[in-house]
Amino acid sequence: SAPVFTRALAFGDRIALVDQYGHHTYKDLYYHSLRLSQEVCRLRECTGGDLQEERVSFLCSNDVSYVVAQWASWMSGGIAVPLYKKHPPAELEYFIRDSRSSVVLAGQEYMELLRPVVKKLGVPLLPLSSTVYGAAAEEPGEGKVWEQNWRDRGAMIMYTSGTTGRPKGVLSTHHNIRAMVTGLVHKWAWSKHDVILHVLPLHHVHGVVNKLLCPLWVGATCVMLPEFNAQLVWEKLLGCETPRINVFMAVPTIYAKLMDYYDRHFTQPHVQDFVRAVCEERIRLMVSGSAALPLPVLEKWQSITGHTLLERYGMTEIGMALSNPLTTVRVPGSVGTPLPGVEVRIVSENPKKEGCPYVLHAEGNEKETQVTPGFKEKEGELLVRGPSVFREYWDKPEETRQAFTWDGWFKTGDTAVFKDGMYWIRGRTSVDIIKSGGYKISALEVERLLLTHPSITDVAVIGVPDMTWGQRVTAVVTLQEGHSLSHRELKEWARLPALSPTSSLSNH
Ligand code: ATP
Ligand code: MG
Repeated sequence: SAPVFTRALAFGDRIALVDQYGHHTYKDLYYHSLRLSQEVCRLRECTGGDLQEERVSFLCSNDVSYVVAQWASWMSGGIAVPLYKKHPPAELEYFIRDSRSSVVLAGQEYMELLRPVVKKLGVPLLPLSSTVYGAAAEEPGEGKVWEQNWRDRGAMIMYTSGTTGRPKGVLSTHHNIRAMVTGLVHKWAWSKHDVILHVLPLHHVHGVVNKLLCPLWVGATCVMLPEFNAQLVWEKLLGCETPRINVFMAVPTIYAKLMDYYDRHFTQPHVQDFVRAVCEERIRLMVSGSAALPLPVLEKWQSITGHTLLERYGMTEIGMALSNPLTTVRVPGSVGTPLPGVEVRIVSENPKKEGCPYVLHAEGNEKETQVTPGFKEKEGELLVRGPSVFREYWDKPEETRQAFTWDGWFKTGDTAVFKDGMYWIRGRTSVDIIKSGGYKISALEVERLLLTHPSITDVAVIGVPDMTWGQRVTAVVTLQEGHSLSHRELKEWARLPALSPTSSLSNH
């Protein structure tokens, strides 16, 4: 169950990553990471080069420093906790404190922002330097990689919203992540010749596992943009730069935005023909996930690029679970069948016997499953089991216990139906989770915040369907007698400071 970096030296001078700092070989990434891991180990004075699952939080831009920080955390036997630049300082503080991180790594552009936070928490802060990692690396003279018993060792904590309380840290082991990666590599036929364009945040399983660790596992190349930008994505997909992109993955909102750009800029028929021809010729795979893919988006994308988006279903806690086929027909609206190693069940509550749901449908490698007879429509909650399912919610044994059935199935909270030999996601069992732009947002957290406004006495937050965002966060509020509050005022008040690297400096 060794992590991806253990294969890096074998890929040597192949290009692993392309970003604004240049082309980075596997070997360079490995040596830069090794050096950083030694610094971290020295700082922690850890014995035998083993941090023993100490948490290493890191905040950096989407570039080479992310990979170096992640690999260094693993090389030193620690757990990687990726933070996200758009989270307000109070959230960042929560993640660092909740994970009890013993060291924080930060790109130069985030040092000022994090300094007061780490000071308050008494945690050391180490700088990451994208420019240093952008240059070739020399083999460090000494230093070793912690490398025993990867299997059950914690690898990563990714924070995710739930229906109750603050965000929970999802702890996945190296074995879990390895299973996520190899399942996808197999199903989507990743090879070292692939070149993927990466445009997603790197604190979600979609951005981290599907788009980064999969290509790095096979010796392929990841071309990483600092963030999503429609014009830039079209330039990269259609342009002459090498290496040429042949794989693309995104959330439905991004496809909607790319089509909006297309409508405004690619109006001439010969340009449209060019777009279609290039996409058909160069690109072998285009994937959508993180939220339901609206049919009009799928159809329009098909007509402008010739590609039927491959839709798959997954979750932070389980990685990817269901996927449409790579080579045979993809049925719009369906999320396909289980990935290798993933077992699924669809269950319905049993009013007679609490905790013993009716099993409506089962698929996997166990033989003894009893499917309850007499159910025509096989719609119910989706349960998942298998090597990719996470170990625990960090520091939350009660939540962890409640997330699983007594016999070890993870309860996804999503409603699914099995029909025509494949799975269809119908919605969530709880309306308290809103999916907007692929993000999971807790309606309760937004409600809690709005209730602290002096003029608001009651509030309900809901997701309203939206073509671009999937759902839009919408609040229905009741005001105190005699108070007035405009939509704009409330929006201003509720705005959390989203921090870009430059504004973060001026905000402090
Ligand atoms: P993913 O990219 O699979 O969403 P993530 O890290 O963004 O990974 P979460 O933020 O945990 O995952 O969100 C998982 C939830 O997203 C699922 O429980 C489900 O409700 C929703 N989801 C993911 N993929 C799909 C899909 N293809 N169709 C409908 N809902 C989906
Ligand atoms: Mg998501």
